[in-house]
Amino acid sequence: MNTQQRIAAGTIDADRLDRLAELAVKVGLNLQPGQDLLLTAPAEALPLVRRIAEHAYRAGAGIVTPILADPEVTLARYRHAPDAAFDKAAGWLYDGMAKAFDANTARLAIVGDDPMLLAQEDPDKVGRANRAMSIAYTPARERITNFEINWNIIAWPGLAWAQRMFPDLSPEDAQGRLAQAIFAASRVDGDDPVGAWEAHNAALRHRSDWLNGQSFAALHFTGPGTDLTVGLADGHEWMGGASLARNGVICNPNIPSEEVFTTPHAHRVEGHVASTKPLSHQGTLIEDIRVRFEGGRIVEAHASRGEAVLIKALDTDEGARRLGEVALVPHGSPISQSGLLFFNTLFDENAASHIALGQCYSKCFRDGATLSEEEVAARGGNRSAIHIDWMIGSAEIDIDGLSADGSRVPVFRKGEWA
Ligand code: ZN
Ligand code: ZN
Repeated sequence: MNTQQRIAAGTIDADRLDRLAELAVKVGLNLQPGQDLLLTAPAEALPLVRRIAEHAYRAGAGIVTPILADPEVTLARYRHAPDAAFDKAAGWLYDGMAKAFDANTARLAIVGDDPMLLAQEDPDKVGRANRAMSIAYTPARERITNFEINWNIIAWPGLAWAQRMFPDLSPEDAQGRLAQAIFAASRVDGDDPVGAWEAHNAALRHRSDWLNGQSFAALHFTGPGTDLTVGLADGHEWMGGASLARNGVICNPNIPSEEVFTTPHAHRVEGHVASTKPLSHQGTLIEDIRVRFEGGRIVEAHASRGEAVLIKALDTDEGARRLGEVALVPHGSPISQSGLLFFNTLFDENAASHIALGQCYSKCFRDGATLSEEEVAARGGNRSAIHIDWMIGSAEIDIDGLSADGSRVPVFRKGEWA
């Protein structure tokens, strides 16, 4: 059975799928009349791509351009391409994306690939290909991390992904189950998704306003395998939910999103930390990450699985061993309470507090929209060709806020807001 037949057969609720498409266009992107849209997706997600195209054109889109990727094509590369090809990437494509963003094109990414697609492939080839892609993607990524334009990420319930999550179910039931989980986490399972997101954005704003009022110098994380002090960047600002892009459009970059996040200081991170969930990075599962920081830099790194790919990512460039994001998510978040492990960062990072290696968001600074690259760096913002989020929160983690005068304020106790 192909994907469309399965939808016709009711495995994926067509009405919810349509609501997700509408939410992505109206709330995720807040697509403006006349604005073009660039969309990337797994080929399997075509039914969702078509729903999005319709809602985008109804909203007045100029041109909607979908770019589809296929796992079989990716695997063919690993099995048959000449060795030297693994240091290559389609730079022309990312240059073109950057050009599109400079012309105010909005960006929508649909995720849904098999999180373990490349598990059987040569880790050296995987690491080299990831590195080449990260570097070639730089012009496009910079415009996204600088919030030059409105952008959004949503998920499609991919069949292979669903089977990784629900190995005991039939493929069809697994996909239906993942679809439900995506719709619930994305808040399109009720009657008024747009209203639900307005209320959710207000709650996230309340948390980020409190943290901004405290203006902590650092956060101290403690728990099993973790004793980590994360210095925050000078003039950092906490954000969450809706964001104002530099083109003047308020968008919700991630659907779902449960985090409030800011920019750590690239040179002021000390101690050790252990991951609390597996990380799926570009088709490789990386488990039980343990790293030690000195002066903001990772000086020791281990993983029980996927260590070679992790180390290759850390060696991408100078900034890859430093932090670009710290995010707080309570253990009671709906995604965490679902008890599901998604093996997908869009979901798992919204079930636990996390940190990200690599590039920072320049928007997470007071007056972020006007800062130059040099000013961001001077305040402690990190720069890298990677941005990899991984989860360090759980019901066993306490977090204290440290003020510049040395006083301590409880922020999280046992994984919940204190
Ligand atoms: Zn995050
Ligand atoms: Zn991130």
